[in-house]
Amino acid sequence: MVISPFTAQNNNIFMTFENLGLISPILKALQTEGYEVPTPIQAKAIPPILENRDIMGCAQTGTGKTAAFTLPILQKIYELGPSNLKVRPIRALIVTPTRELALQIGECIANYGRELPLKHAVVFGGVGQQPQVDKLSRGIDILVATPGRLLDLYDQGYIKLDQIKLFVLDEADRMLDMGFIHDVKKLIKVIPARRQSLFFSATMPPQIIQLANTILVDPVQVFITPVSSTAEKIQQSLYYVDQGNKMGLLTHILEERNIKTALVFTRTKHGADKLVKHLTRVNITSQAIHGNKSQNHRVAALNNFKAGTIRVLVATDIAARGIDIDELAFVVNFEIPNIPETYVHRIGRTGRAGAEGEAISFVDREEVPFLLDIQKLIKMYIPEVRDHDFLPSRVIVDMVQVENRQVNKQHNQARKERTQQGQRPAASQGPRPASPKPQSENGAPGQKKKFWGKRKSST
Ligand code: AMP
Repeated sequence: MVISPFTAQNNNIFMTFENLGLISPILKALQTEGYEVPTPIQAKAIPPILENRDIMGCAQTGTGKTAAFTLPILQKIYELGPSNLKVRPIRALIVTPTRELALQIGECIANYGRELPLKHAVVFGGVGQQPQVDKLSRGIDILVATPGRLLDLYDQGYIKLDQIKLFVLDEADRMLDMGFIHDVKKLIKVIPARRQSLFFSATMPPQIIQLANTILVDPVQVFITPVSSTAEKIQQSLYYVDQGNKMGLLTHILEERNIKTALVFTRTKHGADKLVKHLTRVNITSQAIHGNKSQNHRVAALNNFKAGTIRVLVATDIAARGIDIDELAFVVNFEIPNIPETYVHRIGRTGRAGAEGEAISFVDREEVPFLLDIQKLIKMYIPEVRDHDFLPSRVIVDMVQVENRQVNKQHNQARKERTQQGQRPAASQGPRPASPKPQSENGAPGQKKKFWGKRKSST
């Protein structure tokens, strides 16, 4: 089944933005954006936020989560009316783990709030603080920030948080992964206790639930499209290939299929730089974004990619988290991630807003266990592409061995259960372990036999 976050779910098929209680300047902005109907998370979260409720939202990027919290925030701050303080006080604070995400939320606020007389600022580390300080000193209503720079500016006295009415913690699980949890806890202590809080996380491990409990009061829980289902709308495939052949395979696919733009994920910063060097050598324009690149470089690379000036954007996971590129059709997992959820986040860069997307993954023999974890999470086998010139036989052998072991295990378990129920186990009952199709490095069937012969004698 194809599940899109933009498919009508939970009977919100007739839901409109008007029904959600949004005011006309916001409706007008949404019209300009071309949004016709609310996504499920918007339909579920906007009404309770407008009614002053705290929210615990389990949703990932790509579901329309940003609008789900920014639209009601804009409305509520607007309805509070102008403050009588000399400088506009910050009344809504949105904290998010990465600079890219902060910038994107800032862009959404500017777009959705274009008809409202509200001001916002975005602050993050890695760039000079003076322009941010200047903007803050002129007064803003909504602040979007990453935790480190936010506390830095607060400690220096450039940010006052005592008038905060709305607090958003976005991508809480990523905050935890990135080691921001102490900063978040510090922050909670300095913002007013009387406030409305909105908490969003793609996953809800115990530590996150614990954190949510310290922030939220009687929250409305909004759970949207589990992480494993999002993958279903994206056309996925995998290529078994030795690490050393991955660059050749990537170049071959980009050229042969005439791929216009691709977002390519590597596991390491070094790997990202190496790949850019290789692509440059073969005349494929590319840039890398990762933690060692300056903020200016990252923004420029992203803009170049969006504008089509470069063909390939190579990214590590943290740098790519939350980046929103319209009509991104092609994602490559040059190395597959060791955390299965990351796979879903990565391929979620494509197929956004219900669009079709394609994700291909390169899998080396060392990565086979990661692949199995991913397949378990997304509850599907990713189809393998076998007709390519870079096919290694050993990896397939290993992969199929592992698969066979799993099928055998299930088979044995089923047999045991039947025996316990008093049925006679029959040797011919149940599925036979998947048997691999003969395949060699260059696809010649003859060699493959040799491999299976070898395998048999070694086990
Ligand atoms: P997000 O999950 O906030 O990162 O949003 C994912 C993408 O969906 C962004 O490109 C948004 O502009 C877009 N989007 C959000 N809400 C809607 C909507 N109701 N209709 C169409 N597109 C939307």
